[in-house]
Amino acid sequence: MGLIISVSGIRGIVGQDLTVADAMRFGMLFGQALGNDDKPVILAGDSRISGDALRSAVSAGLMAVGRDVIDLGVVTTPGACLMVRKLQAAGGAVVTASHNPIEWNGIKMIGADGLSFDSRRAKQIKERFNSGQIEHKSAKECGHITRNDETHKTHIETVLNACDNELIEKIRSRRFKVVLDSVNGAGCVGTAGLIEKFNCELIHINNQPTGDFAHTPEPIAENLVELADKVGQLGADVGFAQDPDADRLALVDEKGRFIGEEYTVVLASWFVLKRSAGSVAVNLSTSRMIDDLAERFGQKVIRTAVGETNVAKAVLANNCPIGGEGNGGVIYPKVVPVRDSFSGIALILELMAETGKTISELVDELPKYVMIKKKFPCNLNEAPQRIEKLISKYEKEQISTIDGLRIDWPEKKAWVHIRPSNTEPIIRIIGEAPERELAEELIAKLAADAGL
Ligand code: MG
Repeated sequence: MGLIISVSGIRGIVGQDLTVADAMRFGMLFGQALGNDDKPVILAGDSRISGDALRSAVSAGLMAVGRDVIDLGVVTTPGACLMVRKLQAAGGAVVTASHNPIEWNGIKMIGADGLSFDSRRAKQIKERFNSGQIEHKSAKECGHITRNDETHKTHIETVLNACDNELIEKIRSRRFKVVLDSVNGAGCVGTAGLIEKFNCELIHINNQPTGDFAHTPEPIAENLVELADKVGQLGADVGFAQDPDADRLALVDEKGRFIGEEYTVVLASWFVLKRSAGSVAVNLSTSRMIDDLAERFGQKVIRTAVGETNVAKAVLANNCPIGGEGNGGVIYPKVVPVRDSFSGIALILELMAETGKTISELVDELPKYVMIKKKFPCNLNEAPQRIEKLISKYEKEQISTIDGLRIDWPEKKAWVHIRPSNTEPIIRIIGEAPERELAEELIAKLAADAGL
């Protein structure tokens, strides 16, 4: 596939598409693109085995163009974003390939606001990545590196400060039994500390930040069999699963059933909307459970293009008390305006304590939908025409064209969303309806109309 260079950073298979030389060049370009102020740059990474080598290379590149570096070591992506804001850094570089398998790694750029880096300057990095000299600073002008080990502590404190104190006491008195699967990723270190503050009885599996992932890391049903079994066997109250950089969170109920990553943002929003007025921002592919929930509290849902930054920006621009993505990404701006599994864990525990209900009882109070995701091979050059054709065909329906095409049929409580991939020659169609048959049928119809 080769090295993937996008406006969020670079990603590839280590040793094949992504080397330390690439990481160093990227560090130099990023350091220059951050401008001429003397603010430090945050460096962080998940626990991948290749992380030490790549982090060293990125920091060398940053210092060679005169940037001071603050190395946070192995920390979560939301923790790194929090520290960029707290330390008023110029930006940050996080060495992570998120939920991708161990062979992969990447560098994610963060802007001074803790969100994604400015897209115009990111495009310039992309253009300059494959050719041209980059000016190396002279001996006296190179940057320095310092170490900061405060990330987990700061993150935990920020999450606890965002909680209701009475509810913290209530959670503590319930002494919930919690099974946590950190997949030997960056969540291993700080997350246990957070859960212990809630006086939960913690059973922590895959809890060494070795980067030797205990299972395929994406937190979806097929990869979380061990967690689900453990929760069932031990009679735990809840199971939590993180991805390697601990921004995403998936849930297992007290019966040991994986309930689906779509529920995380819905349950977290449930707790928040009970107490705070405001809209919820989610992307176009997130389950309509969130619409049902928002309606219950008399609130609106703002739909954005797919991409964490799009949701995060909408959360901030509309003063949303909560937002996120259906892939287990909870964005709780009271803590940090990016996907954060720590915030997700705290909000779910608060919801359990406040309602006195179990996860399965809470899930039973939500409407049932079936979501189906399909991929179709497609030449990406042809994708825009195919989408245009669909837009004219469906223009009388309730549609959104901010990212591909989403069509809603409110009377059927069903929708489909079609969008081309940014990186692979495929087009994705996601559909959701109260019954599987209808979701399948709507996807098949749309695919046929698109000539796929
Ligand atoms: Mg991730």
